[in-house]
Amino acid sequence: MTRPRNYQTEAVIIKKTKLGEADRILTLYTPDLGKIQAVAKGVRRPRSKMAGHLELLTHSQVSLARGRNLDTVTGSQTIDGFLPLKGDLELTSCALYIAELTEQFTADHDENRPLFELLLKTMHRLCQDTDRELTLRYFELHLLDLTGYRPQLGRCTACSQALKPETNFVSPCAGGVLCPGCQPTQPAAHPLSLDALKVLRWLQDSEAEDFGRLKVSRPLSREMETLMRACLRYLLEREVRSTAWRDTLREQAAPRQVAEEEGEG
Ligand SMILES: [Zn+2]
Repeated sequence: MTRPRNYQTEAVIIKKTKLGEADRILTLYTPDLGKIQAVAKGVRRPRSKMAGHLELLTHSQVSLARGRNLDTVTGSQTIDGFLPLKGDLELTSCALYIAELTEQFTADHDENRPLFELLLKTMHRLCQDTDRELTLRYFELHLLDLTGYRPQLGRCTACSQALKPETNFVSPCAGGVLCPGCQPTQPAAHPLSLDALKVLRWLQDSEAEDFGRLKVSRPLSREMETLMRACLRYLLEREVRSTAWRDTLREQAAPRQVAEEEGEG
């Protein structure tokens, strides 16, 4: 379908790149047009009226004019500025992480409304007092589902036997779990504890409106993060850039967390 010369769309700004003296190329994730890139002219000038409505991690109503190569933003109005995400470095890093994954796992103009909704829902959830790591795992699993990479967590990906309640293995290249009998065929597979398998399955199958019920220990949380990171790295053929920043923030926070845990004991 050809887009009209001028059109409007809701969008979340998921990436920005400098262009020339005062412009930016924005990557917008939209409900009906999927991912689009557009030039925002003059938004790096201090007095730009549009700049505030086109910040990263902002949900806006955007007007665009179709161009020969890139479309141009002609107007913008904030729907939700997601200020809590911008006022806390740790939260910013989580939100940039899901924005980066959305950008990396999608192609331009490939409509995926459920993914737009997942992105918005996850940004809202990060603003609430929920377990951030579980929120990110939920996002990763459902992103993979919606982009055709749903990991198989019910049966062994090699022999198709139902998985038993024991330590199994995650194979990023097989796209799911291997039973202990099949694991020797893939020595690079990572051990997967029964608890991690249960939580990942629950996240994959639930609508997860109620994260409060689920309590996950820090080691279990780290195990799931490591496994998902290995799968995403395999699919993208590189690290997700924003994970490096998240790791740095966590290292800086580590002495405080240890002190809190000692205080709990
Ligand atoms: Zn097997």
